[in-house]
Amino acid sequence: TDEALIAFDTLADRSRSLLSPSLRLGVTGLSRAGKTVFITSLIHNLIHGGRLPLFEAYQSGRISRSYLEPQPDDAIPRFQYEEHLQALINERIWPDSTRAISQLRITIDYQSASSWGRMLSAGKLSLDIVDYPGEWLLDLPLLGKSYKEFSADSFKLAQEATHRDLADKWLQAANLVHPSKPADEMTAQHLARVFTEYLRAGKADERALSTLPPGRFLMPGDLDGSPALTFAPLANLKQEDFTSGSLASMMERRYESYKTHVVKPFFREHIARLDRQIVLIDAMQALNSGGAVVADLERALTDILSCFRPGGSSLLTGLFQRRIGRILVAATKADHLHHESHDRLEAIVRRLVERAIQRADFSGADIDVLAMAAVRATREATVTQGKDVLPVIVGTPLKGEKINGEVFDGETETAIFPGDLPRNPNVIFEKNEAFHQDDALRFIRFRPPKIESTAEGIKLSLPHIRLDRALQFLIGDRLS
Ligand code: GDP
Repeated sequence: TDEALIAFDTLADRSRSLLSPSLRLGVTGLSRAGKTVFITSLIHNLIHGGRLPLFEAYQSGRISRSYLEPQPDDAIPRFQYEEHLQALINERIWPDSTRAISQLRITIDYQSASSWGRMLSAGKLSLDIVDYPGEWLLDLPLLGKSYKEFSADSFKLAQEATHRDLADKWLQAANLVHPSKPADEMTAQHLARVFTEYLRAGKADERALSTLPPGRFLMPGDLDGSPALTFAPLANLKQEDFTSGSLASMMERRYESYKTHVVKPFFREHIARLDRQIVLIDAMQALNSGGAVVADLERALTDILSCFRPGGSSLLTGLFQRRIGRILVAATKADHLHHESHDRLEAIVRRLVERAIQRADFSGADIDVLAMAAVRATREATVTQGKDVLPVIVGTPLKGEKINGEVFDGETETAIFPGDLPRNPNVIFEKNEAFHQDDALRFIRFRPPKIESTAEGIKLSLPHIRLDRALQFLIGDRLS
């Protein structure tokens, strides 16, 4: 059973960690939230002597060495740290984003802060970082739904005004088929394709309807094209439709396979074994796009946090013995703002998380929020305009980015007025608020920064904003 398997995994993990203490840190977030950049910068700063004043064990000199080691799980792809770092530092391009699960182990040799602790422990902690798409977490509710319910829910949502036009092609195709007719692979493939296109269009669209499952339809990993992903909801299902050999039965079987062979193993083998979790959110992009996208981000965050809810969820009982004790929700890309706005961004994220926690009926794990930039692509300066001294950020906009009709070539440094966040975070959540129309952020993407070298020609580590606070919250207590 699932329970026995988890108990076994947990036991195996525990006995391993008696020999050599380890901590599993999950890194997630919807696509392009900044997972790859975060992990690369965290590792680089740890092994390359980064500036991390608020990471206590490091700052006080108790960490003697951090180094990469082979990961314990042979079946999970390794996080391609070296490749990503090369892209960031040498080519100054952003690395390829997360498309599936991957893992990396970094081991930290440290000295305990207390003399008692120094006698007791060997002072070695292996941090297993697990990177995975947040989209996959959105499948959890499916475990509690039959194929009929999943179909009915999908059609109901597609009829809503916000979804209707995007869903049109799929709805038309779905209305042409008869669920009770004999199953046919071409029909199944066609329906799965137009349904997937609808889900992906919702995500690409500025309305960003990113929260629709099945998650692997958005982010298939290595399952692209497999039968477990070749299904779609069917309209007006009746019990009589589920006769042997009918299209409805075939779709139902594949939906159940998806749950059994894709969703459950993912939660059991990966999520159930995490000790700590960071959830990255692209709040800057949401704020830049306006109210509907902020609302969608809140919904996605609610669904994601529900997966980590201790105890409560019946869907997970048995499947999932909770271990996660600390969750950090971090808004990345704070380097698009002047530092005066960093605390404001954090206040907005705090409100977002409070609302999500309330909706997810969440309590138990220790949750904190942070506005950060895993890699700081800009620096701050001021510009004098008449009598006013105005704060600006300076960076190299990516090739093709535009401001006021000017198109950038990807080589030229430019100063930009970053725009302000409101002092009162509630403003973001109130409908009909002028913020989105008038004061929208001027959000353009920058190239990764040029890394300075020391006089001896040694390259410095990747600059960041508040990465040290993230480390302190996520692993600081295990290095005390
Ligand atoms: P993933 O899909 O979650 O792995 O997202 P990535 O880590 O690939 O990040 C997506 C994009 O966001 C990158 O290509 C960058 O353009 C941008 N980005 C991510 N983190 C930062 C950051 O700390 N600062 C800045 N300026 N941009 C970032």
